[in-house]
Amino acid sequence: MAFDSLSEKLQNVFKNLRSKGRLTEDDVKAALKEVKMALLEADVNFKVVKQFVKDVQERAIGQDVMNGLNPGQMVIKIVNEEMVKLMGSETTEIKLQPGKALTVIMMEGLQGAGKTTTAAKLAGKFKLKGKKVLLTACDIYRPGAIEQLQINGEKQGVEVFSMGDKIKPVNIAKAAIEHAAKNEFNIVILDTAGRLHIDDDMMAELQEIKENVTVHQTVLVVDAMTGQDAVNVAKMFDEKVGIDGVILTKLDGDTRGGAALSIRAVTGKPILYVGMGEKLSDLEQFYPDRMASRILGMGDVLTLIEKAQADIDEEQAKRIEQKMRKNEFDFEMYLESMSQMKKMGGLSSILGMMPGLGMGKGKMPEIDQEAAEKNMARTEAIIYSMTPEERRNPSLMNPSRKNRIAKGAGVDIAEVNRLVKQFEQMKKMMKQMPGMMKKGKRGMFKG
Ligand code: GDP
Repeated sequence: MAFDSLSEKLQNVFKNLRSKGRLTEDDVKAALKEVKMALLEADVNFKVVKQFVKDVQERAIGQDVMNGLNPGQMVIKIVNEEMVKLMGSETTEIKLQPGKALTVIMMEGLQGAGKTTTAAKLAGKFKLKGKKVLLTACDIYRPGAIEQLQINGEKQGVEVFSMGDKIKPVNIAKAAIEHAAKNEFNIVILDTAGRLHIDDDMMAELQEIKENVTVHQTVLVVDAMTGQDAVNVAKMFDEKVGIDGVILTKLDGDTRGGAALSIRAVTGKPILYVGMGEKLSDLEQFYPDRMASRILGMGDVLTLIEKAQADIDEEQAKRIEQKMRKNEFDFEMYLESMSQMKKMGGLSSILGMMPGLGMGKGKMPEIDQEAAEKNMARTEAIIYSMTPEERRNPSLMNPSRKNRIAKGAGVDIAEVNRLVKQFEQMKKMMKQMPGMMKKGKRGMFKG
């Protein structure tokens, strides 16, 4: 199965994280070091790996852990999201001309990459969508290429246009497009010649076709099993001939996954389809999110994360409300409500939503957003330095505990005292205004 070894390695990294209650910066860094190794072994481009790890680390450290997830799962969530981003986030289609207008698609790639097979696979896909497709044999060099296209075209029930191996490819392309226009075809797919290695003749031939006929989409076919070579090939073709997208073949045999993860980042060009086998039906649309799940190989955790995402605001708001009603508001809740506040767009927007406090529109006091946020960060640091018991039961906090907390958070003990006092006041205030919590979707604690 594709990506087996990468999946296995990543799962091992995350297994250790998953069981932890709380992650420190060191935990995250150590885990990401292993992720980095795993990606490099999977033959992902070095620069891509470096940037990827940096992005994940920046996001993971200091991130609030979502309700319903443990910190390890939170790291998986971020890795997953960054992987999706790396592969382009969105699914990209081959762009067809509007209506019934003819679209010319040129396939290119090295010999053996799977160009001819993929051309036929693609023709089948378009046929299923009701398009009239003409496969065109422009590879006049590889022995058997024309016949192979004819056999595959027949299997797909798609017409194949060929002029043998004596006519120049550019002229075959011209004739095919004329034939297609006369006979109301919607799509022409040009199967061009590849070489074992990139060479000037091959590039010149492709350029000549592009200069002499209107090619709407240029699709590069690369073999996933060749890893970084596939990425380098993509870069070269894009520079010399220009490509609109890539089809990555033989992903069924690629246990490493480096090409799938690097191509978009290195070339800026999307992966359009992936080849998953030799059969003509084995061509799949490329979905960055599904591919990331496949690479991470953690369907269970990812489903959990999705669910947590959906439930989070609802559940968290309910829990905070219940605790407040019972006057059980504690520092854990304080932290949670702070993270909700951040999601709602900061302190000033929340104050603006609280007409009861006389801060409706017009009367809104100027709030130094930056200072308020810095304050919030210090408050968070203090709460994070408390033990879970202290957070749940603030009355535990005696001077020696407060001293320890102040040291842990790098603040003066007076600040800890102030926070505890503020907290008591807030608790009192909350008790007096339970109505505030019942404002439906725009209530204070709904994100
Ligand atoms: P071309 O030289 O680029 O036209 O390559 P071909 O289309 O002749 O393909 C080369 C070989 O790769 C053939 O044996 C194909 O069956 C095989 N092939 C192509 N695509 C895939 C794929 O997605 N998975 C697997 N396993 N084999 C493939």
